[in-house]
Amino acid sequence: MQKYSTVIIGGGAAGLVAAISARRNGRDVVICEKMPRLGKKILISGAGRCNISNLDLNETHYNPEARELVRSVFSAFDREKIENFFSGLGLRLRSDGNRVFPVTDQAASVLKILEGELKNLKAAVEVNFEVNDISAQAKGFTVKSKSGKSVSCDNVIITGGGKAYPSLGSDGSCYVLAKSFSHKIVEPVPSAVPLLAKDRFCHLLQGQKIQCVAKAIIDSKVKKEAEGDLLFTKYGLSGTAILDISGDISIAINRLVKKGVQVSIDMIPFMTEDELKEEITRRIRKGFAPEDLTIGILPNKFSLVFGELFKGASVEKIISVLKGKRFDIIGAKGWNEAEFTAGGVDIEGVKRGTLESKLKKGVYFAGEILDVNGERGGYNLAWAWASGFVAGLTV
Ligand SMILES: Cc1cc2nc3c(=O)[nH]c(=O)nc-3n(C[C@H](O)[C@H](O)[C@H](O)COP(=O)(O)OP(=O)(O)OC[C@H]3O[C@@H](n4cnc5c(N)ncnc54)[C@H](O)[C@@H]3O)c2cc1C
Repeated sequence: MQKYSTVIIGGGAAGLVAAISARRNGRDVVICEKMPRLGKKILISGAGRCNISNLDLNETHYNPEARELVRSVFSAFDREKIENFFSGLGLRLRSDGNRVFPVTDQAASVLKILEGELKNLKAAVEVNFEVNDISAQAKGFTVKSKSGKSVSCDNVIITGGGKAYPSLGSDGSCYVLAKSFSHKIVEPVPSAVPLLAKDRFCHLLQGQKIQCVAKAIIDSKVKKEAEGDLLFTKYGLSGTAILDISGDISIAINRLVKKGVQVSIDMIPFMTEDELKEEITRRIRKGFAPEDLTIGILPNKFSLVFGELFKGASVEKIISVLKGKRFDIIGAKGWNEAEFTAGGVDIEGVKRGTLESKLKKGVYFAGEILDVNGERGGYNLAWAWASGFVAGLTV
């Protein structure tokens, strides 16, 4: 059986950087990856452009429970170090607003550069190696694959990801490995995901996109707010503003089984309530038909819903719909459409600063497998790179 100092389980963003960091640190490493090739999710990230980080990288962009852990990792490997790491490998970066991308706008160049460094460093890679068991030995571990292969090592870094986009490899199978060392798993739910709503608006306006401010309303309180695209679909709501607020909603519905979860949409965020009131009042006075009250402000397709809805309605009622239409949310789309996972290995079981398990010496975690979820905008990959690097440095 081949022996290594470190086995890295999962060759995604966190695993590749963990391998580079451990190898630079003099460790003899192998990446065990279940898919036929490394980094499949990197390739589709950022719609193929790979939003690798954010200029405003700090712990406040992550779930509150995880912030101390995230801070401990970023204090060792922060935004500047992430950028230097990539530019040191030859990847030129640029920012678009606060979001950081490769200048090539190609996720493929990010993967190629990481694979090139693994090759330079002579890191071993085993593909088609789906780990289904890690057994602790008197000294170190034996890591076994589903098809019967084994490798032994002094320590392991588990970077098998969460459950989002299972067709790219991460299907939650590594939670079982974490559980075998008594780690608690915070119930994983899909995040950055379209939402399901049964509403005439969605049915009649399907395919229509507008700019909006969306709010997640849980227990009658605004839990999260985002500005961006809203896309009406036949099943409900999508678009960047919805994806941005979907994590809290998915947790409320799928994990906490809450009822009465709503999304409130300001369809005309570029006008204040007073400006809109004045304009609508003027239009009513001029004799505009109900279906034409927002012509020139919202796309013409909205006439399909406003004709009936605004017939005989008061100005106050009209404004309340335009500035705060409520949608009852009945669910979220599933793992095949989620950009990442909310939940995973409970961070209480992981040491700050090193990411070593508190329950089993020699076992480390990095990336999306942990219950660390960032906002959209490069925060999840930034976490994967930084946590992978830190785990690789400390093994
Ligand atoms: C469509 C989409 C777009 C995204 N865009 C962005 C973006 O632009 N910016 C951003 O910050 N984030 C983005 N994300 C999120 C980001 O890609 C992930 O959070 C990040 O890739 C997680 O990295 P990871 O290494 O922890 O996990 P993964 O990338 O999921 O890698 C885990 C690896 O482990 C392997 N594996 C799993 N189980 C086993 C096992 N039992 N044995 C061996 N190998 C195993 C998997 O095959 C996989 O290769 C996007 C996600 C999606 C789905």
